[in-house]
Amino acid sequence: MSTLPFPKTLGDLKRAGWQSRSIKAELQHNLIAGIRSRENLFPGVIGYEDTVIPELENAILSGHDIIFLGERGQGKTRIMRSLANLLDEWLPVLEGCEINDDPLAPICSHCRKQVDDLGEAAPVSWLHRSLRYGEKLATPDVTIADLIGDIDPIKVAEGRHLSDEGVIHYGLIPRTNRGIFSVNELPDLHEKIQVGLFNLLEERDVQIRGYKFNLPLDIFIIATANPEDYTSRGRIITPLKDRFGAQVRTHYPRTIEQEVAIVRQEMAPFRHNGLRLTIPLFMEQVVAEISQAARRRHDINHFSGVSVRMTIHNMETLVSNALRRSVRLGEIEVVPRVTDLPHLTSTMKGKVEWNFAEAGEEDDKLGGLVREAVHAIFRKAFPAGAFDDFLRAFTGDASLNVSELTPSGVYIEILSHYPQLRQQAERLAAPATPAALAAATEFILEGLATLGRISRTMHEGHARYATKQ
Ligand SMILES: [Zn+2]
Repeated sequence: MSTLPFPKTLGDLKRAGWQSRSIKAELQHNLIAGIRSRENLFPGVIGYEDTVIPELENAILSGHDIIFLGERGQGKTRIMRSLANLLDEWLPVLEGCEINDDPLAPICSHCRKQVDDLGEAAPVSWLHRSLRYGEKLATPDVTIADLIGDIDPIKVAEGRHLSDEGVIHYGLIPRTNRGIFSVNELPDLHEKIQVGLFNLLEERDVQIRGYKFNLPLDIFIIATANPEDYTSRGRIITPLKDRFGAQVRTHYPRTIEQEVAIVRQEMAPFRHNGLRLTIPLFMEQVVAEISQAARRRHDINHFSGVSVRMTIHNMETLVSNALRRSVRLGEIEVVPRVTDLPHLTSTMKGKVEWNFAEAGEEDDKLGGLVREAVHAIFRKAFPAGAFDDFLRAFTGDASLNVSELTPSGVYIEILSHYPQLRQQAERLAAPATPAALAAATEFILEGLATLGRISRTMHEGHARYATKQ
């Protein structure tokens, strides 16, 4: 930090013309500049351009503290963290201050004394904006000491008086002074802590172990809550609720395209030397549709929601199963396909809460969800009648057997017997490697089975597609 070409003392800072401003004024100023220059202020935030972001910007322009209401897995944390981009890149603070004191208006006794003693020679350091964002997941066991502070017995033993705020060991919020602090799942905070938080924000004082200290912090506070927790009586104390000037409602991705874009951004990178991953678009869409369809179901609990994280984890599991196959078969191309989908139940089980499912019913219900998703995406991918030629050739006692461990070469062999099928499979497989053609073939066969055009029977992980008898 000392290498920055910025003023290093209070005197230099004043002579450079630096002026104090509040955190909210700083955010407003930088937001206006960002809107004017049309830069993307919330990089990586997908699907909120017309809904959440305008409301968020209005709240900042109004200087309102914000509560984000939404079910889990709607990107609330990401959008809150992205607010740090709206801070000045560097902020001067009095060197060594635990609560980032403003050099022109210090509030802690240590800094006030330092400025009294050293005057314009008081040293200034510069804080990067990435260090001015703090967050805490609220749980019932979060204490005043965690968030606000505690009396430091060592400082008391050193002879400091208890009425001096120099005896405080600061908690997370004071340490984020002149920055942004976010509380995740605010309703889970114990009522006593909510009162402490309110006093700090509104009355600008803190009570620790019965002692009251004045602490005029300057913080932009944001919080999240599940809408049902937030509205249910008694979960949030009314004065704290009133303090949030803006409620911003988040939501799940409205389209499959948005959900796919989020998965591409968030999923674990594929780093395996000598292997090449290609995820067909139709498989991405199937995975996204599974989550979207689950959110529409009435037999799934919507209080907790179906997180976008489920979509991401499903995709990661799907890729892992394809990877396992490729390694086992000695293939270089890694391409997820329909026979990998049953493995998603292990990812989904902990994430989808059924309203009435009996024990043992869950696997069937999840299997049904997956099959419906394949059906929906297949119908979008192909017009009715696209396979009439193939079905005219696929007659009599013809049948095709595939499984998750069937080598890609087997599908090439199948396609050589059915050029009408190969033609359509090639439309989906780009580039048309054997593994990609295998995935396309399975998708088509399964799609035709969900349409009832051919039959499918499962036996020990093997799918047998046959003509309808
Ligand atoms: Zn200080």
